Amino acid sequence: MVFRYCLPPRLTRKKGESAVICPFCRFDDSRVIDSRPTDEGTQIRRRRECTSCARRFNTSETSVLLVIKRSGATEPFSREKVINGVRKACQGRPVNDDDLALLAQRVEESLRSDGVAEVEAQEVGMAILAPLRELDEVAYLRYASVYRSFSSLEDFEGEIALLRAEPSRNSKALKDSRTQELIK
Ligand SMILES: [Zn+2]
Repeated sequence: MVFRYCLPPRLTRKKGESAVICPFCRFDDSRVIDSRPTDEGTQIRRRRECTSCARRFNTSETSVLLVIKRSGATEPFSREKVINGVRKACQGRPVNDDDLALLAQRVEESLRSDGVAEVEAQEVGMAILAPLRELDEVAYLRYASVYRSFSSLEDFEGEIALLRAEPSRNSKALKDSRTQELIK
């Protein structure tokens, strides 16, 4: 049996071991016997032993990825918000809900791959650019024009020149490095 816990990252880092309650006696302290990451690193499976009743149990713990908004407030990362953020740019384009779900998943994976528990809202926006470009270049251009505040025809021309110089059939590694340069 696996007990699922959702731990805020601060708890995971500092007091995670005491945040899990024993499913048998409800004691709130346990010892970690074994730990292994699953599911692309977003979940950790742990084997624990209760320090009160000594019974053992498994947990599947998810670390929450927090987004720091411009106001300074934080909220849990939401794939739904990513999808809502790009949906408008995808209007009239051959992009379906599955594509958007996959895009949101890739955004989350790329943010989590940095191993940090909190990201700025700005970083979420940047993480959208590369997978969106791969999905649909017109949608990408629309999104980038708003997100990166294109203010003139030259901005569009420059971006289109870059897209032309490197069509999306290029290898993924190349594209990623190109996008990294674009967003600096
Ligand atoms: Zn116990």
